[in-house]
Amino acid sequence: MARYGQALLAVLIAFVIAAFLNSYDIPAAFATMLLAVMFSVWRSGMGPGLLAAILAIASIRFFAIEPLHSFDLFMMPDEDSRRFLLYTESILLLWLLGAALRRGQSRLARSEAYLADAQALSRTGSISFIVPDAEIFWSAEAYRVFGFDKVVAPSVRLMLDRIHPEDVRTVRRKFYGLTEPVQRIELEHRIVMPDASVKYLNILGEAEREKDGRLRISAAVMDITEARHTAELLRRSQAELAHVTRLTTMGELAASIAHEINQPLGAMKLSAQTGLRWLERQPPELERVEMSLKRIVDSAVRAEALIAKIRGMAKKAEAETAPVDLNRLVDDVVELLKGEAHERGIACLVDLAPTLAEVEGDPIQLQQILVNFLMNGFDAMAATPREEREIVIRSRHGEAGVILEVRDAGPGIQRGSEGRLFDAFFTTKAHGMGMGLSICRSIAAAHSGTIEAFNNDDRGATFRLTLPRSETSN
Ligand code: ADP
Repeated sequence: MARYGQALLAVLIAFVIAAFLNSYDIPAAFATMLLAVMFSVWRSGMGPGLLAAILAIASIRFFAIEPLHSFDLFMMPDEDSRRFLLYTESILLLWLLGAALRRGQSRLARSEAYLADAQALSRTGSISFIVPDAEIFWSAEAYRVFGFDKVVAPSVRLMLDRIHPEDVRTVRRKFYGLTEPVQRIELEHRIVMPDASVKYLNILGEAEREKDGRLRISAAVMDITEARHTAELLRRSQAELAHVTRLTTMGELAASIAHEINQPLGAMKLSAQTGLRWLERQPPELERVEMSLKRIVDSAVRAEALIAKIRGMAKKAEAETAPVDLNRLVDDVVELLKGEAHERGIACLVDLAPTLAEVEGDPIQLQQILVNFLMNGFDAMAATPREEREIVIRSRHGEAGVILEVRDAGPGIQRGSEGRLFDAFFTTKAHGMGMGLSICRSIAAAHSGTIEAFNNDDRGATFRLTLPRSETSN
């Protein structure tokens, strides 16, 4: 109702102005009424606009058409009746046009609101700018993600200022500093908020040439801080679990071996002591000595049988073999260690042979070799400058079979330790167990394969696993 009141008021004001101007012989009724209709339809909508239009037409009849100050429609001279028709048509046309524009406008506002809702829900803002720093746009959500007040004028400088110092170089190279078109930009980086908290952003975008030759960069910016924190927690608990499992299995195994072997060992000791006592007698009781020695042999045989049983158990744990595609194995392991690599600022590059023969083996054990190579490479690069930390995983065919190589950019294998790397308990790390490579070598041997390690010509070390092709593989 209030909207109709507004329309009425608009026409009334127009009416008063027209009457006022009319008294000075200024014929302004048409112009003032047009304004009143335009205002009403725009402000208050189609219905109130129509009311204003009808009232406006009546007012024009009243002020501008002979005979003046009458609403009569039949006594108009020809000339005036044509003018009246023209005025009426113009006002109705204006009303229609205004209504259509208003509808378009409200539809646009609605879809913008939906978009803003979707962006807020998915924590994804959108940004777009022309390089280097012109025509920049941030969506409402982008303002929120970067933590800027709505009144701030967007600029590339402001976004760059937020980037975490360790990420600035990469982000400049891959996104803000682009000079050539790129079809798909994908990167993750951190930003530091004014309260010193850190947010993780995922950027997905493209850089295109505009018709005028300038470069436009557009992107969706997703705040993935929460997801990152959860993944980090998961990664930590997985690592802890792996550590604890390893310790407990080793501890349990050691305890059970000790327990089983202790018994025959005790018996052997006892028999030996008894034998010695019979031997010390004057004269020595050789028959009894012989009996003690036989008991020792029996116990030793029992111990041997026990050890064989434990080994048998360990063997049983081995899974059955199957054809393994090492390229897929690499993908799986890289996926598994992606978080760890990112955490340590390491780029994992993968260079796989397009078609690779399969090998025969236990995928889990082979995976363990690759995980070990990679984790050792990660450890080796702890002191390498962050932007140079890079691991290359390569697969290819060689004379002896299928080759998988992991090349790092660390300090290389320590001089003097080359021959001992694969020995059990050999480690140069403060908290190392020295079991990784020795287990890798056993696994490779069980698969009729080999492991080698050597230093690269430039920097870092390469660990190479060679496995025979599967006979069923072509
Ligand atoms: P750990 O990792 O517990 O030390 P490993 O058997 O996996 O046990 O490794 C044994 C040793 O081999 C390491 O302590 C390190 O000295 C050396 N090593 C392994 N990988 C690398 C590498 N990528 N670069 C340099 N040295 C390495």
